[in-house]
Amino acid sequence: MLDQTSKPLVSVRDLKMHFPIHAGLLRRRVGVVKAVDGVSFDVMEGETLGLVGESGCGKSTCGRAVLRLYDITSGEITIDGEEIGQRAQGKLREMRPTMQMVFQDPQASLNPRMTVEAIIKEPLDEHTKLSESEKREKVAELMDAVGLNRQFAKRYPQAFSGGQRQRIGIARALALNPKFIVCDEPIAALDVSIQAQVVNLLEDLQEQLGLTYLFISHDLSMVRHIATRVAVMYLGKIVELAPREALYDEPLHPYTKALLSAVPEPDPSLATKKERIVLKGDVPSPANPPAGCNFCTRCPSVMDICKTQEPEYFEVSPGRFTACHLYQNTNDTAE
Ligand code: SF4
Repeated sequence: MLDQTSKPLVSVRDLKMHFPIHAGLLRRRVGVVKAVDGVSFDVMEGETLGLVGESGCGKSTCGRAVLRLYDITSGEITIDGEEIGQRAQGKLREMRPTMQMVFQDPQASLNPRMTVEAIIKEPLDEHTKLSESEKREKVAELMDAVGLNRQFAKRYPQAFSGGQRQRIGIARALALNPKFIVCDEPIAALDVSIQAQVVNLLEDLQEQLGLTYLFISHDLSMVRHIATRVAVMYLGKIVELAPREALYDEPLHPYTKALLSAVPEPDPSLATKKERIVLKGDVPSPANPPAGCNFCTRCPSVMDICKTQEPEYFEVSPGRFTACHLYQNTNDTAE
């Protein structure tokens, strides 16, 4: 839980990640995909901020941009007191140990020609001056920490199940004692039966090591389980951010309401009362978003103003943020 003393480890302000579209023989620039289009949020020390939305909403791009796996279009990113938004790639090296990523597909993110030991050791080779025997011992400790048998260090990733491969990815991410980890759909490629094990492992490690997570997922049930606060993305923008219970109990933004209405209700007595909001139409292209509110082409509550004026993202009540004209008019303190 967050309290008054919680402070941000990560601050993102007006982050934009636009990708140019080139066409024709001369590969002229004909447009731009606004994958992430002006998002701002903090991740507090020791918390898990869930970042949710449908596929293609920009959440994974956002996570990668925050870690500067891309050169961002614009914006500020501060991690552990260091502004890294505009830092040249060559100068990011010293920050890499602090910030790590766990990828969605453990199969694709592990080199099949390297042993597990070599995979987990790689960041130690690159960023530390430990001796070979110290590194081997550290790898063994990391394997213990993620529940892998250290006897299997000389095996290759193919010898492991999907869940075990994700544990290898987590061990590698932990090798340099990071403070902040972006978990990009870390369980989406795994069997349902082992998803909970990996989530429990991430939670245990967070508690033991004081880690801070940005947990990216399309699975709202899983995010409800793991997140401290939740940010909802639609078409490159955050439309709502709130503490977990507030968001799930009383969503404000029409898109959040629709997303949550589609989550299966495990309690049968409540399931009958739940009304499903079916959104019409498709998500517009991020290369050609609508004027005004990005959600205006599908919103059940759309008004005239929504089609011309972009709603401001602001703090509706302490700790609750949204971008929707339904709320803007009732709050004079909007910045
Ligand atoms: Fe719907 Fe208008 Fe709010 Fe956008 S601003 S979510 S279109 S009511």
